[in-house]
Amino acid sequence: MTDLSPRSGLRSWFSSNGRLEFCITLASVTLLTGACVALILVPRNAGPLQLATDEAEVLDTSEGIDNPRLSPVRRELQPYGPILVREVADGAAAEALLVAHPSHRADLDVLERQLGRAISDVSAVWGTEWNRAPVVVVASTPAEFTALTRSAGAAGTDVAAVSLTGSYTPGTQPTDQRIVFNPDARRRVGDEGMATLLRHELTHLATRADTVDGAPLWMLEGFAEYVAQRDQQTTFSQIAPTLTTRLRAGALPTELVADSDFTGVDAAYAYESAWSTCAFLADRYGTTALTTLYRRLATGPQSPAAQDAAFTAVLGASRAELLDGWRAWLRGRAA
Ligand SMILES: [Zn+2]
Repeated sequence: MTDLSPRSGLRSWFSSNGRLEFCITLASVTLLTGACVALILVPRNAGPLQLATDEAEVLDTSEGIDNPRLSPVRRELQPYGPILVREVADGAAAEALLVAHPSHRADLDVLERQLGRAISDVSAVWGTEWNRAPVVVVASTPAEFTALTRSAGAAGTDVAAVSLTGSYTPGTQPTDQRIVFNPDARRRVGDEGMATLLRHELTHLATRADTVDGAPLWMLEGFAEYVAQRDQQTTFSQIAPTLTTRLRAGALPTELVADSDFTGVDAAYAYESAWSTCAFLADRYGTTALTTLYRRLATGPQSPAAQDAAFTAVLGASRAELLDGWRAWLRGRAA
């Protein structure tokens, strides 16, 4: 759950000396970010020069190939084969980019239909002051997914993640963010599940500028899942099956879910519990209060006392009142 940066035009210069039959000429390609890429020009039998590139071949595109933000993606994906590219405009300053390999063309089609709406859904809660032109990549293999997310220090679920590819200064609006889908994501969660994942990861991306590592995960993950599930035609037990089972067995939570619960065997419950906390807060105090609480608690690690102070300041409630209200809300939904 993290994320990327703006790049402008791509200019390249290359030259060669035709009389040197075996010479290799390096031409530098300068991106707006200052990154450099080398193109190798190999003379072929004194004929036309053949260009060997270290960028993935673009097989088809909806006119996105000239988009300067595509170049870093093409370089990173080059070892994994040719790519397909789509642009999705939603009224933001730049177009969102969707990238997948030919083996995942159907995933690309699904995401192309869903992305504009997902961006709008996130903006409906968070506002439009975020980079609404993400780069979304569908990995073709587990190895590619790992490479694209691990290298960027991604966090998140194992079916999708937001990765930060550039340097990032907390408090600034990151633009070098991308969302990466696991190759099996659509098979595992279906088309509607892809839309939910998209909204969840887009929420992480939208809130990144206001989010500092170490902030309480119940707030970060619960908020992303609240935005992802909001206004969908899904029931409580569909969204939170593990939580529902426990509630029906009479087990009500006694505290907000701890950060340590988000990894390991109880991770599904942790996400569902965090979602239910935020869904309750939005239901009881309103979406604006929930968003205000997010901005306050996402500023870094929060002691129990600091969280208590935030509950009082934003919600006008003590922790005990919040927990009592949440449990009553849960009891009413677990029947
Ligand atoms: Zn998440």
